[in-house]
Amino acid sequence: MKYDYLVVGAGLYGAVFAHEAMQKGKKVLVVDKRPHIAGNIYTEDVDGIRVHRYGAHIFHTSDRRVWEYVNRFAEFNNYINSPIARYHDELYNLPFNMNTFSKMWGIATPDEAKKIIRDQIADLNITEPKNLEEQALSLVGRDVYEKLIKGYTEKQWGRPCTELPAFIIRRLPLRFVYDNNYFNDRYQGIPIGGYTQIVEKLLAGADVRLACDFLKNREALSSMADRILYTGQIDQYYDYRLGVLEYRSVRFETEELDTDNFQGNAVVNYTAREVPYTRIIEHKHFEFGKQDHTIISREYSSEWKKGDEPYYPVNNARNNALYEEYRKLAEGETRVRFGGRLGAYKYYDMDKVIAAALAFCDDELK
Ligand code: UDP
Repeated sequence: MKYDYLVVGAGLYGAVFAHEAMQKGKKVLVVDKRPHIAGNIYTEDVDGIRVHRYGAHIFHTSDRRVWEYVNRFAEFNNYINSPIARYHDELYNLPFNMNTFSKMWGIATPDEAKKIIRDQIADLNITEPKNLEEQALSLVGRDVYEKLIKGYTEKQWGRPCTELPAFIIRRLPLRFVYDNNYFNDRYQGIPIGGYTQIVEKLLAGADVRLACDFLKNREALSSMADRILYTGQIDQYYDYRLGVLEYRSVRFETEELDTDNFQGNAVVNYTAREVPYTRIIEHKHFEFGKQDHTIISREYSSEWKKGDEPYYPVNNARNNALYEEYRKLAEGETRVRFGGRLGAYKYYDMDKVIAAALAFCDDELK
């Protein structure tokens, strides 16, 4: 055995583990089927602009240990995420807050906003929201639901809001103050110079093989290390023998434009059902870029099928139960462990990935 650990997947979870294992004197080999490191937080420098290749990544956390950890590998700027929602030609602030309500209804005070919401849902008698539609209506009323939630959510998830779980919308803050900060977390920012450097530094000292598909070289690679951390799709590892876990996938159309400022904000959500994409990201604004050109990505949501990039786990009852079966199978492994978004079939924010990876290190490297 040449290595103590084989880490399958050079994303954030695998890289944190590889780093911590090396700190303990372990020899680590990291493989990834993509031609680059950093998984979905990969940022690529294109004409001086860091392009978030796999969608907008904004680091936010309330976990001081995680914040201090990640700051060891990059300096963060003071970017605060304040997306704009565009419904036809109407523009609103997100998350739903007094700026949104005052623009929607021409009102000024929290009491006025709350009264309008109450009046809009009075006849619905929602006590315990059964699905995303009921949850959204009971939180923000009919106007905000129809203009800013319904179309966007149905595009993103490809299902009617009445068939989606309520918890999805609970990710999105709602407040009755004039505050456009999308996140409630204490710490927030974008690493100056992009995310890839963080993973590069985490992996320093490890052997890394890119464009190397573990599942196509399973035996040879497995024989090179004592233990394996697998951060790919858990069902694929088992050849889908119990069934296929579902995901939503995303496709990006990226374009360089000969203007210095296309939309005036990093993130603009297109909430109307008729617009085929869900949002447009203008990458330079994450780092307050001053270039005379710009790069934008239109984001299209699609149903995942084998071979596509898996993005969002569809955590409904059927899939969660199936994942549980795979997890039991994984528990029986003696030298392979699973983790990360795909290994745990969980929609993790980056800070949660780091926290989960550090907890895994405590257990695995004790
Ligand atoms: N959402 C919405 N309108 C918006 C933005 C978000 O209805 O303009 C809802 C939608 O259901 C979405 C959820 O909030 O699935 C979470 O969105 P967020 O943008 O936070 O998720 P991300 O895709 O960025 O992880």
